[in-house]
Amino acid sequence: MSRGLYIHVPFCVRKCRYCDFFSVTDTSLAESYVRSVIKNISALKESFSTVYFGGGTPSLLSAEQISSILSAAEIESGAEVSMEVNPGTAGESYFREIKAAGVNRISFGIQSFNDKELAALGRIHKASEAVSAVLSASKAGFENISGDIMLAVPFQTEKSLRETLEKAVSLPLTHISAYLLKVEEGTPLAEDEELLKKLPSEDETADMYLETVDLLGQHGFEHYEISNFSKSGFECRHNLKYWHCEEYRGIGVSAHGFAEGERYRCGDTIESFINSPLQRNIPAGRGGDPEERAMLALRLTKEGIPVTMFPNLEKRSEQLIKSGLARLENGFLKLTPKGCLVSNQIIIYCTEQDGGGR
Ligand code: SF4
Repeated sequence: MSRGLYIHVPFCVRKCRYCDFFSVTDTSLAESYVRSVIKNISALKESFSTVYFGGGTPSLLSAEQISSILSAAEIESGAEVSMEVNPGTAGESYFREIKAAGVNRISFGIQSFNDKELAALGRIHKASEAVSAVLSASKAGFENISGDIMLAVPFQTEKSLRETLEKAVSLPLTHISAYLLKVEEGTPLAEDEELLKKLPSEDETADMYLETVDLLGQHGFEHYEISNFSKSGFECRHNLKYWHCEEYRGIGVSAHGFAEGERYRCGDTIESFINSPLQRNIPAGRGGDPEERAMLALRLTKEGIPVTMFPNLEKRSEQLIKSGLARLENGFLKLTPKGCLVSNQIIIYCTEQDGGGR
């Protein structure tokens, strides 16, 4: 099975208030960074069935830069080539150009269709810009378009979330990722006491999540992973590799990879990434043991894990099923939407050893 390729683009117009991803707002090194990405990809003597440009804001790169990166990679025919796009950075001609370069899936960081919520998050775009970005991508010929929506953001109510979701399903999106906002330590949001008071409560957040699953389901978006929904056949193939514990290469500062059974992360700074002959990969342990496989596969709400995977799982799952947190289908244990809300605890409960051996 061929690997996926993840490329991290660590440049943003401005830092969003909740963001703890690695990115900088000084783009002066972007061209040298791209050259280094190309150098690193050229050193990989293998072909890829999925490519994913993540960030940061990959859409800050020109179409020529995207094209030159893709030309350096051996990409299989029929591969999925995704690119994250900030709706405040791209128009129809850009979409046509990146499509010609080989990108065939766009993932928009929409987050909300409510301007007050977008401003609280520190996003650079307005709701109307997100609408026109999605329509422009569609007009440029993209058929595989995803949008990220954030739940439990400051000022959000069940009503405003419903409005956001209804707007999302009215657009030509084939995939929606709905993430719960996490207040990460050290971010401006975490230090803004006034804004923190505007966050929905835990109960409201749970209701928002359940309503999201419900509403998207009614509009033909299948809930295939805790935070991911797609029209039939439009699951993100690259991200499925992560959840299926398949291998992938990661290129660029802060990227992670998994190859030859070993996980690694790129330990460079932007400067050292540019100046080193090849990126410095720091080993991050063996990957792919049964516990890790189960932890990842349990996130897949349509697939789940075989109930025979661990000796006591069948017995343990009885209580989960009784409580409506999981269901058993053809011998596979799968989380219900209610179970997704406490997925971390369930995953630990299902995969921990209890002294019985295996
Ligand atoms: S655009 Fe994305 S990566 Fe950049 S600061 Fe905002 S959330 Fe972070």
